[in-house]
Amino acid sequence: RIVFEDVEKRFGKNVVLNGLGFEVAKGERVTLIGPSGSGKTTILRLLMTLEELSGGYIYVDGEPLTHKKADNGKRTALRPKEVALIRRRIGMVFQQFNLFPNMSVIENIIEAPVHVLGQSKEEARSKAQSLLDQVGLGDRGDEHPTRLSGGQQQRVAIARALAMEPEILLLDEVTSALDPELVGDVLGVLRDVANTTDITMLLVTHEMQFARDVSHRVMMFDEGHIIEESAPDAMFSNPQHERTKKFLQAIL
Ligand code: ATP
Repeated sequence: RIVFEDVEKRFGKNVVLNGLGFEVAKGERVTLIGPSGSGKTTILRLLMTLEELSGGYIYVDGEPLTHKKADNGKRTALRPKEVALIRRRIGMVFQQFNLFPNMSVIENIIEAPVHVLGQSKEEARSKAQSLLDQVGLGDRGDEHPTRLSGGQQQRVAIARALAMEPEILLLDEVTSALDPELVGDVLGVLRDVANTTDITMLLVTHEMQFARDVSHRVMMFDEGHIIEESAPDAMFSNPQHERTKKFLQAIL
């Protein structure tokens, strides 16, 4: 379970999130939608601890992620070691794949399992191979990512995230950088993950049919606030808020 409590995020004077609170249940898949700049990516990056929380708290299964309320009620930052322990339960896939270009596909996938989880290379390799099979790239393990298409690279990035056996998977516009004909394969892999695991997922996507198919709930953001949330069918066929109607009209 993920809990955001009174979360604040500022970039200099730009207040992106202010007093944001929401919860995501274990195994729930939630899509974040909303106009550009409404804070969706920032929310995922805060969870991944790629951005520093300016105020408030984030909890994963009841444990504070980066800051806790000390006994005296004061907000205190956790030590990096404590943060790392929780953070490893979260995986993220980015718009721009972010694979290590100097490593082969299989090396990309085993890097964190070996160095963070302490798996043996043999164990990590054999798991990586079955993940590559799962994403349809079983015969590409020894290649360098630069030799793969964008869609293939993104499927490697998904395999790499899954190799850490995350409880939470964050997907940030993972098909936005792809040529249209490559989008389907990537979404297919993610549908498969959604259907065969109970990983909690937070996704930011413009693929509304995909959001409809895989998510349990959609949250509509505007200027850092949730202005509407509901099951995807209700959200897409019968949005209540004027802002949501306009947004969906513009993108559907
Ligand atoms: P998009 O759909 O365009 O990705 P978004 O809803 O994901 O939009 P964010 O990327 O979270 O929005 O950005 C929210 C706000 O935070 C924007 O005003 C953006 O300019 C600002 N912002 C994000 N990252 C940084 C950064 N590293 N430094 C300064 N400002 C930032």
